[in-house]
Amino acid sequence: MDWNYDTEPQPGLGDRRVYWPRGKTLGGSSSINAMVWVRGFAADYDHWAAVAGSGWGWESAVEYFRRIETTEDAAGDHQGRSGPMSVSQLRDPNPLTDAFLQACTEVGLGRTAPSEINGPSPEGVAQAPVTQRRGRRCSTADAYLKLARRRPNLTLLTRTLTTRILFEGTRAVGVEYRHRGAMRQARADAEVVLSAGAINTPALLMCSGIGPADHLRSLAIPVLADVPEVGRNLADHLVLPIVVGVDSSQTLYDAETRRQLLRYLVRRRGMLTSNIAEAFGFVRSNTSLELPDIELLFVPGPFVDEGLGKPEAPGITIAAILLQPHSTGSITLRSSDPTQAPRIDPRYLSDEAGHDRAAAVAALQLCERILQAPALAGHVTGPMQPPGLTGSPRIAAVIERHAQTLYHPTSTCRMGSDPDSVVYPDLRVRGVDQLRVADASIMPRIIRGHTNAPAILIGERAADLISNRASQRASSESR
Ligand SMILES: Cc1cc2nc3c(=O)[nH]c(=O)nc-3n(C[C@H](O)[C@H](O)[C@H](O)COP(=O)(O)OP(=O)(O)OC[C@H]3O[C@@H](n4cnc5c(N)ncnc54)[C@H](O)[C@@H]3O)c2cc1C
Repeated sequence: MDWNYDTEPQPGLGDRRVYWPRGKTLGGSSSINAMVWVRGFAADYDHWAAVAGSGWGWESAVEYFRRIETTEDAAGDHQGRSGPMSVSQLRDPNPLTDAFLQACTEVGLGRTAPSEINGPSPEGVAQAPVTQRRGRRCSTADAYLKLARRRPNLTLLTRTLTTRILFEGTRAVGVEYRHRGAMRQARADAEVVLSAGAINTPALLMCSGIGPADHLRSLAIPVLADVPEVGRNLADHLVLPIVVGVDSSQTLYDAETRRQLLRYLVRRRGMLTSNIAEAFGFVRSNTSLELPDIELLFVPGPFVDEGLGKPEAPGITIAAILLQPHSTGSITLRSSDPTQAPRIDPRYLSDEAGHDRAAAVAALQLCERILQAPALAGHVTGPMQPPGLTGSPRIAAVIERHAQTLYHPTSTCRMGSDPDSVVYPDLRVRGVDQLRVADASIMPRIIRGHTNAPAILIGERAADLISNRASQRASSESR
């Protein structure tokens, strides 16, 4: 259920490869993600509007989010709106999550009121709202596909790899795909919409001859359209995690017990309803900044070795995230073979001015202070990852040995009105006809937040653009 990617070795992170999971199942990455639901900051959507038109701005985004979300209360009842995505509070937040939030206030960080989390500027710390329905994950497959499954005009193929977009001249007329060992084709009457995510969408475009001409020629791929920025501008949120041991039997280290399983199955409660990243906070590394550049995340469990390791004792994780990275990377092909994983190079901490490294250090210093605040300090038994270190040596070791991804790649098929962008504001791909992209790859710039909510917004807006509802709405608004 995972594409199981790894990046190229990252010189900024001690030459390590970083594990990049992506969902390989219905619902894509929303079926394997940490369920945190944040819309993000108005300023980021307003930047999208500045480069792609007002339909992409905050005011319009709020309308879309109203259409997307239904809010579930603690009793499991749905409030007000009736969108397909169920967004709720955690049913059984961990007691240590509260201790973390308390520790944040002790070091002077503000608390975001629940009503402000989805407001235009959610600075401060809060318990994470989650995409769950009665304690169970609500993926885009649960929210959208289940409703549409019986429509006569929908054919859904699983265990199928799309290998190429088919063209007649420059007009996209369908896709080629591998299904049960055989190569097949699907023809499109109207247009082709590509939603393979920020890694595979640019890879599929390049395999189909759309991308930087010199790169395509070097792999003997015939060039259909020279679109140099396909695969460029790759942005991601880098995570800097500190794991410490705690004297508690209530962390997620103790989640996999029969009792917790029973609680989950019978009452949909207990530790197995945890989304792992139970609290977050948007903060500024430096008071001269207008908006937060750092996110804090709290896991009431020991998240070791990029989540792939087996922790040996109870622990908690406090992580800092670079929200507005200056470093950008690229997706390129290794060969013309669409079954080969593309080359992923986020170039973490590579910006020449060193802004990202400075923000990383400042963010980790804040995490150190939070760990020493009274509400948490009494629980902490000692360092776990990296082992044996605290203070400045720990900060250096976290960056070098343990920095990982928050799994938010975006912007590899950047949308814009300028001629260098990959897709127009109506999501059509430049240089060809009848082909659109609708996924996180089109974000003009990565947002301060998590990427699931905006990816779904992009899907909703794509539906409007395809069915022409967007222009009808714009003209009725201007009347
Ligand atoms: C482990 C993890 C944790 C995360 N946690 C959070 C979180 O808590 N909150 C949050 O907001 N965001 C989170 N995210 C990010 C968020 O889930 C993604 O940004 C969002 O799902 C991206 O949507 P997308 O449509 O662009 O791509 P995806 O959701 O990745 O969908 C792409 C789909 O295309 C399919 N596909 C790709 N290539 C092909 C091909 N060649 N042929 C056929 N099918 C193909 C894939 O299998 C997949 O189903 C997380 C992501 C991961 C991986």
